[in-house]
Amino acid sequence: MESIIRRPKALALVSGGLDSLLATRIILDQNIDVEAVHFVTPFCRCSCFSVNRISKEFGIKLHAILLGQEFLDIVANPRHGYGSQMNPCIDCRILMFRKAKELAEKIGADFLVTGEVLDERPFSQRLKAMLLIEREAGLEGKVLRPLSARLLPPTEAEREGWVDRERLLAIRGRRRTPQIELAAKYGIKDYPNPSGGCLLTDPAFARRVRDHLNHEGKLTLDDAILLMTGRHFRIDGVKVIVGRNMEENNKLLAIAEKHTMPYMMVSDYKGPITLIVGETKPEVIEKAAAITVRYSDAPKNVPVSVVYKYKEGKSEITVVATEDNEIKRLRI
Ligand code: SF4
Repeated sequence: MESIIRRPKALALVSGGLDSLLATRIILDQNIDVEAVHFVTPFCRCSCFSVNRISKEFGIKLHAILLGQEFLDIVANPRHGYGSQMNPCIDCRILMFRKAKELAEKIGADFLVTGEVLDERPFSQRLKAMLLIEREAGLEGKVLRPLSARLLPPTEAEREGWVDRERLLAIRGRRRTPQIELAAKYGIKDYPNPSGGCLLTDPAFARRVRDHLNHEGKLTLDDAILLMTGRHFRIDGVKVIVGRNMEENNKLLAIAEKHTMPYMMVSDYKGPITLIVGETKPEVIEKAAAITVRYSDAPKNVPVSVVYKYKEGKSEITVVATEDNEIKRLRI
């Protein structure tokens, strides 16, 4: 990022949420060239629609960066720990900032812009954490946060006069009123709920990830896909996954066939595909079959036949559906 003899240029990190939308708009209003970058992780639930909208409404170029195994390694082993669930936000932001820095250098952007609001998130948006993230990404003084800028140390963009600090904001905390008022002022409607986004902040999903890491110690892209698919059970240390609908059943079947993994389904009724991820002990197979019956259209209090397919062939087991209290005990 060299010194300026032309119109300054910023790279805005956009999530699809209202804050980054507003931050981008504020900087565009200061006659700065802006391009945007959006990061996608395997656990991202953000709407492409709201991200694309930024580039359409503001007429700016949008880059998308997929964070794959590098991100999953961080989830498995974050240097700076987790937030309230399994969200390693500090390490994740460091990774995003590093990638954004590389892109900024490539496109000739002079500084970064984010929609971060001081103290909005207790883990990663405290001043200390924000400065640490910047430092570890090699971006000290290069990240402008227009929504809270007047509460933060001046950045290079303000010091150099590329951006007028007086026209930046001093929003702090979790109250959304200032952002909602600002959106109304700019005529921005239909913005997504800020609670969406990353599955790792969802307590039920975080429980699955925690269970997976306790047993496996690492996280791959295949693991990530499985974690997001079906109902999960842990039987004698073995993971059992039961599809919830046709789409998930097809996905589980494709994974089973691709990796020659054992799976099962009820013989004569509609029902789920059940995948066994791990050692196929007889007691695990029997319990997995009973769970498969529980989620099928078969009657629940009589023995039902389940087809079990594995590498060497297939067999048939007859079991009665698992009772609800046992389901609750085994469910992750
Ligand atoms: S919520 Fe998820 S995507 Fe966002 S910073 Fe935290 S870990 Fe990364």
